[in-house]
Amino acid sequence: MPSNILIVYTGGTIGMVHDKDTGSLVPFDFGKIEDRIPELKSFSCAIDFISYHPLIDSSDVTTTLWNQLAQTIYDNQINYGAIIILHGTDTMAYTASALSFMLEGKHVPVLLTGSQLPIGAVRTDARNNLITTVEIACQLIQKNIALNEVCICFDDLLLRGNRCEKFTSSRFYAFRSENFPALADAGTEIEFHPELFLAIPTQSLRIQPLLHIPVWLIKIHPSMNLEFMMACLNAQNNASLPKAILLETFGAGNAPTDKRFEEFVSDAIAKNMVVVNVSQCIGGAVEPGKYAGSYRLHQLGVINGHDLTTEAALAKLMYLFSKGLESKQVALQMEISLRGEMDLR
Ligand code: ASP
Repeated sequence: MPSNILIVYTGGTIGMVHDKDTGSLVPFDFGKIEDRIPELKSFSCAIDFISYHPLIDSSDVTTTLWNQLAQTIYDNQINYGAIIILHGTDTMAYTASALSFMLEGKHVPVLLTGSQLPIGAVRTDARNNLITTVEIACQLIQKNIALNEVCICFDDLLLRGNRCEKFTSSRFYAFRSENFPALADAGTEIEFHPELFLAIPTQSLRIQPLLHIPVWLIKIHPSMNLEFMMACLNAQNNASLPKAILLETFGAGNAPTDKRFEEFVSDAIAKNMVVVNVSQCIGGAVEPGKYAGSYRLHQLGVINGHDLTTEAALAKLMYLFSKGLESKQVALQMEISLRGEMDLR
């Protein structure tokens, strides 16, 4: 395995500075990173950097960035033992989830990191996050530990990317993976937990580009405007309807028992949309039928998202439809764990 590491900088707070005119944080040129973190020169693995143009705040992420990243990984993995992606925290869990599906087959470890404070700030967490991520990458290479995963490395934890959610915008522990334990912990030593790693595939890497697949993400809330939802469904001609609806439901998968909501769901299914139930809770899983509020949904044909995060569910739907699968096949695949993204209970 090659012993050098590639760092790909896409933007985000980690490399941001205050704009002179507006005072807002904007991305800056990361070329001189080693001047800011000279410790990067002391690793035994050589590090190369590439910077995307334009650099973006991750709120601007679309499938374009995901396809670009997948291509960069594909093109470079022969020459590098690990690839680190510097990315804004706001949508890092979406990007990690998307890449986990798009990379089909055997690939090098892909580790995403970023920070809550810019690299120039006195109390920045960028230094720790970047140095720890590089240390983990180096150890994986030097100890020959095979990790065929897309991970988020943040605040001393290495987490499976498609299990993560951004948890806080103001603390340094920005990410949680409530339904799956950390793959490694960085204390005085890096402790890997290889028993949790995904099996290494035998087939070589292939990338599945993502198309712009329309999905409606609906967060269930008290006193929903059901008439408006029905009007949206009926106003669209079939060609412009979404391929799927992701319902972020209460608790263990519950939604209002209001007949008009059931009508909305059954109309969507009748129009060939895949309707998936994920919980708005950060931990736990959908349990169809535990309460009346989920019983009917699943009788109507709503797919159980189990303990999928919203980020992973959205990315998985886009991935499956991008493969050209029909709604029925997508629905079946949604209930199978493809990249360790969910547990079936
Ligand atoms: N808005 C920033 C971004 O996601 C926040 C961050 O990087 O932490 O790009």
